[in-house]
Amino acid sequence: MAKRPSATASKTVAVRASKPSTARRPVRAPKVSVVVPCYNEQETLPAFADRMTAACRAVAGASYEIIFVNDGSRDRTWNIIETLSRGDPRIVRVNLARNHGHQLAVTAGMSIVRGDWILIIDADLQDPPEMLADMMKLGADGFEVIYARRRARADETHFKVATAKLFYRLLGSISEVNIPQDVGDFRLISRRIADRLNAMPEQDRFIRGMVAWLGGRQTEILYDRDPRYAGETKYTLSKMIRLALAGLTGFSTAPLNLAIILAFVGIAMGFAIVVYILIGYFFGQATRGWSSLALITVFFGVGQFFCIAIMGAYLGRTYMQVKGRPLYLIDEIVTAEPRKPRNG
Ligand code: UDP
Ligand code: MG
Repeated sequence: MAKRPSATASKTVAVRASKPSTARRPVRAPKVSVVVPCYNEQETLPAFADRMTAACRAVAGASYEIIFVNDGSRDRTWNIIETLSRGDPRIVRVNLARNHGHQLAVTAGMSIVRGDWILIIDADLQDPPEMLADMMKLGADGFEVIYARRRARADETHFKVATAKLFYRLLGSISEVNIPQDVGDFRLISRRIADRLNAMPEQDRFIRGMVAWLGGRQTEILYDRDPRYAGETKYTLSKMIRLALAGLTGFSTAPLNLAIILAFVGIAMGFAIVVYILIGYFFGQATRGWSSLALITVFFGVGQFFCIAIMGAYLGRTYMQVKGRPLYLIDEIVTAEPRKPRNG
């Protein structure tokens, strides 16, 4: 992929990480890297760290790292991460300058992972760390993405469950890729998928959709979502709406087609009005001046919708182009003589 000028430091990292070169990676890359976004999680972190460390040790011995990303917390989260990491070189601390939101906190953590496998997990113990073992087994079976699908959602409001269902149904109907339902960002991904994810420069990040877009061998693992260990949800309604919009607009330009639909509705209305006028004319009940006014209004209305639809068509393509995603992703090339795609 072409190197593009980047405005921020984090983007530079993403571009660098995009090169899937094993040569520049440290010789002793850990087997597992865990990325944990944390926003005001002071009550949950000590318990989380204990369980996560035990889960990592069970599958990787000492070959793991846990990356805590403090997403501009206003409580003692950063101090607690500091205490946890004292004397433990396997704990990496990342402090973001302000609250950037869950998706960017995960992205920041992902930009520095070194492991062969990367686990993305919430800090509140709603996602059980012990599932790492089963996910690693599926990884050993050849899967590159193992996402956890929620069977039951303990402790979640009817409102959240109902809106999530509605959102995923809408997303499923307009999205260009199949984004699984009842799936958050809790997942294990291979180094190759992580490199490819880091190479996607889009600003508006909907990670579960981006990973679905990357393809490869993906599978799910069912689990019952535990209640939050402590504190309350950090996903406010406005953050949820922002995430939903990132998903809907990031994977489809279908909403831009609304103008063309309205244009055709306008044309149908125009025909109906013409019929109405003709009937009025033949039966001598025409209202003077009304017909011309109605038709002029419909004509200009339809004209405007068409112009908006034309702009929408160009805008949709421009939008997809500026996202700068790779055109396609090659999993394997089977050939007698080694070759490299020029633009892959
Ligand atoms: N989080 C974050 N930044 C935010 C909001 C949330 O890093 O602005 C973290 C939070 O600390 C947790 C994870 O993202 O580890 C998921 O958030 P939460 O559990 O509040 O969401 P829910 O499970 O209720 O959807
Ligand atoms: Mg949670």
